[in-house]
Amino acid sequence: MSVFDKELRNLVSDLTETMHDAPGAGLAAPQIGVSLRVFVWDIDDEPGHLINPVLDLSSELQEGEEGCLSFPGLLYETPRAFRAVAKGMNMHGEPVLIEGSELLARVLQHETDHLDGIVFIDRLSAENRKQAMRDIRESDWFNQNQVAGKQIQFKVSPHSTNGLGM
Ligand code: ZN
Repeated sequence: MSVFDKELRNLVSDLTETMHDAPGAGLAAPQIGVSLRVFVWDIDDEPGHLINPVLDLSSELQEGEEGCLSFPGLLYETPRAFRAVAKGMNMHGEPVLIEGSELLARVLQHETDHLDGIVFIDRLSAENRKQAMRDIRESDWFNQNQVAGKQIQFKVSPHSTNGLGM
């Protein structure tokens, strides 16, 4: 990602709007089918966005449930670093540094994972991952796609995930 143009600014505003409509706490470009290293978040009514993020994580961990807009309605205990420092660019091509703990740190990790093709299911304990795979197979959105003969794709769902979807 090296072109900081109007198209990129439109992508950031599309992502933000889609996240707010869901509603979710964060959203990454690959979740809406755009293969760029861009994501947005909104924690405590403070929206933000980051391009080309690189994360530095604390060794201290946090516990808590996490959900994903690409897996509507599913929430699992997901271990994450307690604190994250993210370096990247804003949509104007200026370097930015975002430092967060707890939920903001969780969102930064969750969204950066999306850019690398990693979903939160991959971060679960073995037991929770097994449960998640069962839940996914039984979920309406998975089965509707199967019946339609479609490959499962990540897409944003209109279902609320208690504000924790990302
Ligand atoms: Zn997600």
